Amino acid sequence: MEIIRTPAAMTAWANRMIAAGDAIVLVPTMGYFHAGHLCLMRRAKGLAKRVVVSLFVNPIQFGPQEDLSRYPRDFERDAALADQEGVDVLFAPEAAAMYPEGSRTRVTVSGLTDGLCGRSRPGHFEGVTTVVAKLFHLVKPQVAIFGQKDFQQLAVIRRMTADLNWDIEIVGHPIVREADGLAMSSRNVYLSADERQAALGLSRALRHARQRVREGLTDAAGLVREVCEILTSATGVTVEYVECVDEASLLPCARLAPGVVLAIAARVGATRLIDNDNLFAEEVQ
Ligand code: AMP
Repeated sequence: MEIIRTPAAMTAWANRMIAAGDAIVLVPTMGYFHAGHLCLMRRAKGLAKRVVVSLFVNPIQFGPQEDLSRYPRDFERDAALADQEGVDVLFAPEAAAMYPEGSRTRVTVSGLTDGLCGRSRPGHFEGVTTVVAKLFHLVKPQVAIFGQKDFQQLAVIRRMTADLNWDIEIVGHPIVREADGLAMSSRNVYLSADERQAALGLSRALRHARQRVREGLTDAAGLVREVCEILTSATGVTVEYVECVDEASLLPCARLAPGVVLAIAARVGATRLIDNDNLFAEEVQ
């Protein structure tokens, strides 16, 4: 596996691959790899000949009160794991190379970024779309993979890609969970043993919701009430939002029907966690 540190070297590599007729698949990440990241890399192997994983803790997607400085990092371990997965390139640029002095341009997707996580994280999605746009230009992928765990991010990136006429296929990968249901996240390392127990409330609430839908419940407001009750019954969990929205438009839905995603954001102690379920989609183990 090659480790590339500069945008110019990344583009030179991409140009060589394209000249040789090799398609590139990109897996954007912020590192501190867990099994969810590794699943994305494995999926990538089947989608194009060359796999590029970017590892960049993108400063402009963190708010001033957020965890940029303490975001978990372990480059050596990440590089070893990516190498084991057969990744061709780990692209890990410095922040100063991605945002040199004088850079002023931002990519904004309006509307889709206002609700859900956008409400409590102003500027977050603009940071995400700006860095992903830059990665698309530098890596020149035909395919890019994103996790459904960050389903608002996935919807925003699909929108940006279509709006900017990028000929890139966006693949959404199902949420990868721990055996007990907790959605994998680099931020799970912040949780104490008690908090981790409380955090299981999120996946428990989603399982309850899926069961209620199976029973024929169609009232979204009723479901949201039940889910909030489950979440708040766990000590130490503060609900930020529980919403039923359309998977593409992200607009609120009153009626539960195919394409509706139940999305949760909650604080467990000081850690903000998100989880969701596309309620009518086939269940992924
Ligand atoms: P991150 O490093 O947290 O920015 O995540 C990098 C990519 O991995 C994003 O597309 C995430 O949606 C995806 N991802 C993170 N956690 C999971 C998970 N538990 N299951 C599936 N995809 C995930």
